[in-house]
Amino acid sequence: MSKKILNSIQNIPAKFIGTSSTMAIDSISIDSRSLQNGPKTLFFALVGANTDAHLYLKNLIASGVQNFVVTHIPEDCEGKANFYVVTNTLLALQQFAAAYRSLFDFPIIGLTGSNGKTIVKEWLNFLLSPDYNVIRSPKSYNSQIGVPLSVIAINEKHNLGIFEAGISTVSEMEKLEKIIKPTIGILTNIGTAHDEGFADISDKIKEKLKLFQDVQVIIYHKNPTIDLLIRPDTAVFCWSYNDAKASVLITKKGVLDKTVLTVLQNNNKFDIKIPFQDEASIENAISCLMVLLYFKYDDRTIQNRMELLYPVEMRLKVKNGINNSSIIDDSYSSDFQSLKIALDFLESQKQYKKKTVILSDIFQSGLPNDVLYSKVAELIVSNRITRVIGIGETISAFKNKFANCSTFQNTAAFVADFENLDFGNETILIKGARSFQFEEIVYLLEEKTHETVLEINLNAISYNLNFFKSKLLPKVKIMVMVKAFGYGNGGLEIAKLLEHHKVDYLGVAFADEGISLKNGGINLPIMVLNPENTSFSAIIQHQLEPEIYCLKGLYAFLKIAKQKNLKHFPIHIKFDTGMHRLGFEENTLDELIAALRGNSTVQIKSILSHLATSDDLEHMDFAHSQINLFEKVSSKLMSELQIKPLRHILNTSGISNFLDSQYDMVRLGIGLYGVSNDAQEQKQLENVGTLKSVISQIRTIAAGESVGYGRRFVAEKPTKIATIPIGYADGISRGWGDGLGFVMVKNTKAYIVGSICMDMLMVDVTGIECKEGDSILIFGENPTVSFIAQKLNTIPYEILTSISQRVKRVFYR
Ligand SMILES: *Cc1c(COP(=O)(O)O)cnc(C)c1O
Repeated sequence: MSKKILNSIQNIPAKFIGTSSTMAIDSISIDSRSLQNGPKTLFFALVGANTDAHLYLKNLIASGVQNFVVTHIPEDCEGKANFYVVTNTLLALQQFAAAYRSLFDFPIIGLTGSNGKTIVKEWLNFLLSPDYNVIRSPKSYNSQIGVPLSVIAINEKHNLGIFEAGISTVSEMEKLEKIIKPTIGILTNIGTAHDEGFADISDKIKEKLKLFQDVQVIIYHKNPTIDLLIRPDTAVFCWSYNDAKASVLITKKGVLDKTVLTVLQNNNKFDIKIPFQDEASIENAISCLMVLLYFKYDDRTIQNRMELLYPVEMRLKVKNGINNSSIIDDSYSSDFQSLKIALDFLESQKQYKKKTVILSDIFQSGLPNDVLYSKVAELIVSNRITRVIGIGETISAFKNKFANCSTFQNTAAFVADFENLDFGNETILIKGARSFQFEEIVYLLEEKTHETVLEINLNAISYNLNFFKSKLLPKVKIMVMVKAFGYGNGGLEIAKLLEHHKVDYLGVAFADEGISLKNGGINLPIMVLNPENTSFSAIIQHQLEPEIYCLKGLYAFLKIAKQKNLKHFPIHIKFDTGMHRLGFEENTLDELIAALRGNSTVQIKSILSHLATSDDLEHMDFAHSQINLFEKVSSKLMSELQIKPLRHILNTSGISNFLDSQYDMVRLGIGLYGVSNDAQEQKQLENVGTLKSVISQIRTIAAGESVGYGRRFVAEKPTKIATIPIGYADGISRGWGDGLGFVMVKNTKAYIVGSICMDMLMVDVTGIECKEGDSILIFGENPTVSFIAQKLNTIPYEILTSISQRVKRVFYR
C-alpha cells in the first residue's frame, strides 16, 4: 500500500518542505479528532467555508503526525514536520485519489441518482460478495470529500468496486468522475432531491450522466427524457414496466408482504421474490437485479440471492443502553474500513471514559488474518478502547493480540454468558458482519423504556451554525445560547459540538446550567445571563462569567471579588435599551462608571443589550432606537473607562434583520436549532430535532363509542384508534388534542382524538396501514415545530423547551 500511496503523492502538484523521509505513510486522514492519526498518517488540512484544519496542525504534530498537505505552514509548525504545500488541499486530495485509483484495473460500478444510491450499493455488495472481493464506499461517502476517501481504501485484494457519487449542483460530477473512473454506470431513481442546484430535471440528469463519460454500459430505468440525454455511442442496459424496447421487461405483483417480479429478458422469463412492497425498495432491488443479469448470473442464483435482501441501516445509531450505558449500533457490517469509521464515531461521542467494542470476525480485508488482526489490535490501542469482546472463530484464534479481551465462538455463546459480562457506565460499539446477527446483542443491551425519543441531528446543528456564521463579517465572534438545555435539545452534547467548532462563547441563563457544562468538561468561556447574587461564589469558583445588569448586583459582585482577591475577573455589562427586562438604565451610567473606574478586581469582557423586536419589522424603528441608545451608552462607558470590550446586541432574528449592527459578537439562539422567523431563511436551515414515539396499542371502535377522558371524541363510524405513549407531562400541549393536532403515521396525518392524557394520547388511524410497535412522528421535518407553534398560538421556543427531560435525547450524525 505504501508504494502506491507514494506514487500517488507524486501526482499532487506540491512544493515539498521538510526533512525526514515520508516513505512510511500508510494512511490518509482529514479528521483532526481521529485517534487513529499517527506517524504513518498523511493529513490533508482541508479548508471549509467555516472550518480550517490548519488550526489543528500544532496538536496533530504533538500527537505524532509528521506529514501534511497544506496551503500554508502555520507559524508555530515550521520545521516540525513534512509539508506538501499546495494551493487547494481539497483539490490535492482529489488529485491524489484519482492517481491512486488509476493504479488499479478492475471493474468499478459507479452509482448516481437522487435516491437509493446507498441502498443499491449495500445490496450489490451483499449480492456480489460471495464471488468478488468488493470495495465499496463506506456509509454514504459520496461527496467531493467522501469519494476520494472511499477510493483511497482500495487495496490489491479487491477485484470489484462499488462507489456512489452525490452532487448538489452543476460541475461537481466531473471531478467525481475523474476519481471514480467507473466502468459500469448505474443511474438510480431520479427524484426531486437537490433540485435547487439545477435549472430543471434534464439539467440534473445531464449532470449526473457525466459520471458515465467512459463507462462500458449504463444501467437505468428506461424513460424518454433519459434516453435522449444518453450519448448515442454509449451501450445501455435498461429496464421498464411497460416499454417493450427495454432490455429487460418487468411485471410486479404484491403477494402477502413480498413482491413477485416477473423478469423477461430476450426470451427468458422467470420469477423472483423480494421481501419488500414499497415502490422505492422495489426499484432499488431491480437496479441490483439488472447488475446480476448484466453479469450473466443464472436464474436460480438470482432468485436465491434476491430473496434474501434486507432493510439497510444507513447510519451509525446511538441508543441508550442498559445500566447507564450508551450503545453505537453498527451491527450490519464488518470490514476494516468501516471499523475505522465506527471507532472515530465512538471517539466523537465522548460520553463515557470506558469504551467497549463488540466485534465479529472481519471479512474481505485483503490481508492475511495474522496481519489483519494485528492492525485491528493497533486501532484498538490507539482509540483507547477499554475492552474488546470478540465473537467468531477467527477473532477468537487471535485473542492474544488484544489486551483486555474475551472471545466467544459465536453469538449464541455470547448471549448465554451475557449476565456475567457486566455492562454499564460505558459506551459500547457493536460491530459485526450480518451473518453474526448482532441485532440480538443490540436488543439485549438496549434500554427498555417507553419508546419516545427526541432525535437530535448534530450535523444539522453544525450546518445551521455555519449558515449564520457565513452571514457575519469574518472578525465577528459568536456566542451561542445553550440555555434551557440547549433549547430542549441537550445541553452538554451540543456544547461539546460547539466547542469543537470553536465558537467563541456560550451563554446560559443560570449559574447551575453553566456549572454542569464546566463539570462536563467544557472549556469555552460561558456567560451567565441571570446570575443571582447567591450564586456569585459558585460562578467565581467555576470560572463562569456573570452578566451584571444593575448597581446592586455590581456592588455585591465587587465585594465578593475583592474578598477573594480577584484580579481582572471577567464580567459582562448589560444595558436596558428598551426591552425593560434586565440591564442598567441610561440614568445609572454615571454611577456605573464611577464604580468601575480604576477597579482592577473585574474586567469588562463585553457590553451587551437585547432587542425586543428584532423579529418584527413593523417595529423596525423601535429596534433602531434601541441600537442607537446602545451605541450611545456603550461608547460612553468605553471612553470614560478607556476600555475596548466586545459589544453585542443581535440574537438570531437580529442577525437576519439588523446585520449592520453586528458589532463584535452576536448571540445565536433558536437559529442554531433550525428555527427562523423568516420563511425564506427557514428554508435554508436544517431541521435539528425530531420527536418520535411508537404505537402501543391499536383497536377499532364502533360508531357511537368514545375515546379518552370526558368522552370528548365520539366515533361517527367504525374507527381505528392507536394509543401513543406520550402526553402532556412529556411536553405535548393539551391544546394540541381534540382534533386540532396530529401525529404522522407512515407519512400520513393521524389526528389526535379526545383529550391528551398525562402520559398518552390517542390518534385516529382509520385507513392507515400500521401496526403496534410502529414508529410515529410528532414533529421534525414535517410538521415543523414552527407549524405546531403557529397553530397553538405560541412560539417555537416554547414547544422546544417544553419537551420534558424524561424524553430521551438521542444524538446522531
Ligand atoms: C435567549 C437569548 C438570546 C438568543 O435569542 P434567539 O432569539 O434564540 O436567538 C440572545 N440574547 C439574550 C440576552 C437571550 O436571553
